[in-house]
Amino acid sequence: MRFISVAVPVPYLASLTYRFSEPHAALPPVGARVRVPLGSRSVTGLVIAHDADAPEDGEARDVEAVLDREPFLPPSVVALCEWVADYYMSGIGDAIGVALPPGARRQTSSFRTSRVVAATAHGLAALDSGATGAPPLPGRGLTAKQRAALEMLAAPAVGLPMATLRDRGVGGDLVRRLVAHGLAAIRQERDDRDPFEAGAMHAPPLRPVDRDPPLALTAEQEAALDRLSALADAGRFSVALLRGVTGSGKTEIYMRLADRVCRMGKQALVLVPEIALTPSVAARVRAAFGSRVAVQHSALSDGERHDQWHRIRRGEVDVVVGTRSAVFSPLTRLGLVIVDEEHDTSYKQEEAPRYHGRDVAIVRASHGQALVVLGSATPSMETCQHATSGKYACVVLERRVLDRPLASVRLVNMRAEYAEEGPDVVIGRELASAVDDRLHRREQALILLNRRGYATAVFCRQCGDTFECPNCSVSLTVHRARAGPPRAASKGWTARCHYCNYAMTVPAACRKCAAPYLEQAGFGTEKVEQHLRERFPDARIARLDRDAVRRRGALASLLSRFAAGEIDVLVGTQMIAKGHDFPRVTLVGVISADVGLGLADFRAAERTFQLLTQVAGRAGRGERAGEAIVQTLYPEHYSIQLACRQDYPAFFERELAYRRAMRYPPVVALVNVIVRGRTFAAAMHTATDLAHALGPSAARGGFAVLGPAPAPLVRLRGEHRVQFFLKGARRADMREALKAALAAMPHVRRRATVDVDPVSIL
Ligand code: ADP
Ligand code: ZN
Repeated sequence: MRFISVAVPVPYLASLTYRFSEPHAALPPVGARVRVPLGSRSVTGLVIAHDADAPEDGEARDVEAVLDREPFLPPSVVALCEWVADYYMSGIGDAIGVALPPGARRQTSSFRTSRVVAATAHGLAALDSGATGAPPLPGRGLTAKQRAALEMLAAPAVGLPMATLRDRGVGGDLVRRLVAHGLAAIRQERDDRDPFEAGAMHAPPLRPVDRDPPLALTAEQEAALDRLSALADAGRFSVALLRGVTGSGKTEIYMRLADRVCRMGKQALVLVPEIALTPSVAARVRAAFGSRVAVQHSALSDGERHDQWHRIRRGEVDVVVGTRSAVFSPLTRLGLVIVDEEHDTSYKQEEAPRYHGRDVAIVRASHGQALVVLGSATPSMETCQHATSGKYACVVLERRVLDRPLASVRLVNMRAEYAEEGPDVVIGRELASAVDDRLHRREQALILLNRRGYATAVFCRQCGDTFECPNCSVSLTVHRARAGPPRAASKGWTARCHYCNYAMTVPAACRKCAAPYLEQAGFGTEKVEQHLRERFPDARIARLDRDAVRRRGALASLLSRFAAGEIDVLVGTQMIAKGHDFPRVTLVGVISADVGLGLADFRAAERTFQLLTQVAGRAGRGERAGEAIVQTLYPEHYSIQLACRQDYPAFFERELAYRRAMRYPPVVALVNVIVRGRTFAAAMHTATDLAHALGPSAARGGFAVLGPAPAPLVRLRGEHRVQFFLKGARRADMREALKAALAAMPHVRRRATVDVDPVSIL
């Protein structure tokens, strides 16, 4: 009797053992899909291993069907998923789930076809005869619609896809009539939707990319490329940090390194934080490698993703560019992984499996003897510590290309501003006059406030009642109502929860005491936009935050309008701070630098430093020098001071000292466990039991259990949340202890969220 281990799509579950009872058939290979029974259902699973022993109770059900004779997922990716499931304590099915392309569990065909219609020679003749007024084709003339359709079809010699015809008003009936008359023919074609063309990467590269002759690298770039090339040539696993100030030309180095690796017959994987926000890297990869590139990210349609995935699987591409899940791409000759903006928090997936794309990339490269390049102007503390200790190579670009200076940064102490100008100031005098200046010089400005909405709270001035979310322990954010004429009573205000999306219309009077004295407090990007409009009525002002770009395509269109100079001032959240390269931006304004400093997160200073340095880095990337004006209540805080000086090494030293003193990562490892319950007492009770069960392991040394305590967001989507931390030097000890404790309390598993190396601890 032969057995195989199969990953099935069920949360938290380890692989299951199934019996393969066809005596003469070959076992399905590791990575192949199989249909297996699960309870009363039948599911598509993936073969994880062959040599599984018979289960202890001797009971194993039979594999129903083998869907692939060859591995569907390369065995190296299966191994990577096993690592992810183990390290991040997810189920193996969760991990395999992120590696599979859309539809992999539904269908067996590895590609899709589309139906393409082309005019036949016969059809063209009909067109000609019609056009010359000659007698129409045997028996009947063409209607105007049919003529139009034939003309459309005759233009491209290869015809048009059915879907395109439909978009242009030519339906299936009309096509079938043309075919019936022998005027057109339909053929099946493999259809690889090209997401570059389909507009997923809309924003055009800002500068010509096919440079001829290619850019001459600066001496610094040259030296960096030499060192990285040597590492790539060695054909061994290694990790290098490429720390280069904003605008130092890191992308150019990525391109050349990828090219070099491809020439050696290997493949390159380029990870970017959010493709829509960093279209320039993806567009440059595309321009440099043309059709040898595939792209993988969640903004693609399922169909596009599916097609791109299969192109990779068939070995048709040399370079893959994508967001974190692209780290699971089915590449088989991987030689180089680039993680651009490696400090970016969007590399961490905040649902199971809670993996970090950068860290998985490193593990993947280690399995395959590849080089990993981690690029950033503001590396994470973790990465920089490894670079400092010598575990990673460290390559530094200190200067911007073409001797462009870094933006000069000025701090504005808002406490003084409030004292002189009153407490309602949003845009201080210095920033206002700098914006004015840019408008006159026809240059552009970016204004950052990392908080969306109009106001951050509503309260009654008479009784003090505040508007809190009924499901979450946060106050509702005020937005201007999205559509329709503002209602007099509510002035068109909506109060919304940013966690669960609960929304209500803000009433004219207090719900509790009926006093008509509702007041708004705090402010977000919508208010900044309004103040700017009032102050600069002739300026072209737009806002970029998650509310402004809900519609598909809205983000790309905003960015390309800004790039084309159709917008003078762009207000936004951290979305404007990412790796954009807009050469006409000469001013960056930060409305409140300290938004993130108040959060109960040990990474608050690191995040603030990164955000400020990155946003200042958007200024002065063209010919004219840039300037940043940073409004803050805490001008003396080290993260703000050092971001102003754009002094990364000093920040790292200072922050590391704090992490050492407080014993926070990267000095120790952290595991966050959140237990959810219907009542606070229930959640606390369960969390206490679980933490207690860890006691003996913790006492043997290795790690500490901190808590349980109410989570900062003590209520979220109607559930109560209690959290505790495991803190220690060795993750393996913590993981083993937690696994054992959870295995002993199976009813708790569903209610506990385990986050290994958490990035956000709210
Ligand atoms: P980073 O990613 O380090 O912020 P980029 O790679 O976006 O910087 O480069 C900034 C700009 O400088 C881009 O427009 C790029 O085309 C340009 N650039 C890069 N290298 C050179 C060079 N050697 N000479 C001239 N321009 C360069
Ligand atoms: Zn809520």
